[in-house]
Amino acid sequence: MFKVNENFVKLPASYLFVDIAKKVSEFSKQHPETEIIRLGIGDVTRPLPKAVVKAMQAAAEEMGKAETFRGYGPEAGYEFLRTAIAENDFIKRGVQVDIDEIFVSDGAKSDTGSIGDIFDVDNVVAVCDPVYPVYVDTNVMAGRAGEYTEGKGWSKIVYMPCLKENGFLPELPKERVDVIYLCFPNNPSGVGISRDALKKWVDYALANQSVILYDAAYEAFITEGDMPHSIYEIEGAKKCAIEFRSFSKTAGFTGTRCAYTVIPKALVFNGVSLNKLWDRRQSTKMNGVSYVVQRGAEAVFSEEGQREVRENIIYYLNNAKIIVSGLEKAGFEVYGGVNSPYVWLKTPDGLTSWEFFDLLLEKTGVVGTPGSGFGVGGEGYFRLTSFNTKENTEKAVERIIRFFKA
Ligand code: PLP
Repeated sequence: MFKVNENFVKLPASYLFVDIAKKVSEFSKQHPETEIIRLGIGDVTRPLPKAVVKAMQAAAEEMGKAETFRGYGPEAGYEFLRTAIAENDFIKRGVQVDIDEIFVSDGAKSDTGSIGDIFDVDNVVAVCDPVYPVYVDTNVMAGRAGEYTEGKGWSKIVYMPCLKENGFLPELPKERVDVIYLCFPNNPSGVGISRDALKKWVDYALANQSVILYDAAYEAFITEGDMPHSIYEIEGAKKCAIEFRSFSKTAGFTGTRCAYTVIPKALVFNGVSLNKLWDRRQSTKMNGVSYVVQRGAEAVFSEEGQREVRENIIYYLNNAKIIVSGLEKAGFEVYGGVNSPYVWLKTPDGLTSWEFFDLLLEKTGVVGTPGSGFGVGGEGYFRLTSFNTKENTEKAVERIIRFFKA
């Protein structure tokens, strides 16, 4: 008889955003007079930079003429985009990355989710707790996670608690691990990592022959302090780290879809190159990203594109500042929101994340994300995002101050 992949059956259904939507819709029905403000979503709202739109229009025109029409492109991305990425995101920052170390894709979600295809099923995986759920769930799908216990998590996954007691930075695992997922600036905590702190991870990985999967989806938000934009700014990282980048939050590509992954050629284990394995995997399973979209992504690096991208990032960071200072005024313990669009707060009066969600919605009409949805370590915390408009962000913060300060 046909058998399904039992690893998928093991996954607990993901109720987080469904539950949030259900609660918000019930509340709306009961209180039609309340204007709901959503500070829960991790999706951008500012439109695409004009430079990107223009480039995509021109590319669409090219596709409509026989002389300039293009069919399948190179699986790992067009050379024009890979060159622009290498130049702008790395070489300008003093990091040497070759274009054949760059793999263009439709998203960091796909790449962080699929990278495990080239890893052995017996590798021990370590994740931060709380964490972007894709890292854990895709290891469950691959059969690398063991068994699930409510309130504890997966038996074979090594969880690294990131709590206020350790500044939301993971500590080196006591046991040896093979694969380490790191994401900075972090989702959900909004906290960044210093060069020295990241160096400890690179040193650990080199000493233990482990691989770091470094998710830098939010690097564009680094604007204060001396924080690395890329793990390759740390010496030795090219021998132990894969980096994931995305145009989603940087340039408003969440609906347009373009990202890339860097796999250095120096990443060789047992004589096998991870770069070659990923190239083989990608060219077998995908036919690249649309030419039009890649031309749009290239335009992000133009002078006009860079200016517009910076304006949008500053807009979101300013919203984050409004949230942080408002919450502090209202008496909350607040973290993140400086080099990140995410603000992470400690729920007051010992409330659970969901109890605080209900209270906030009921009393202020503001929707956020319960920290417990990101793992056991997120219980007692709550995430607000700066991706709404300035006007709505201000309105939400005023309501929070009015209710909680009283
Ligand atoms: N990585 C992290 C940490 C994220 O928070 C997100 C999206 O919210 C992604 C990756 C997904 O990025 P993309 O839109 O490129 O798939």
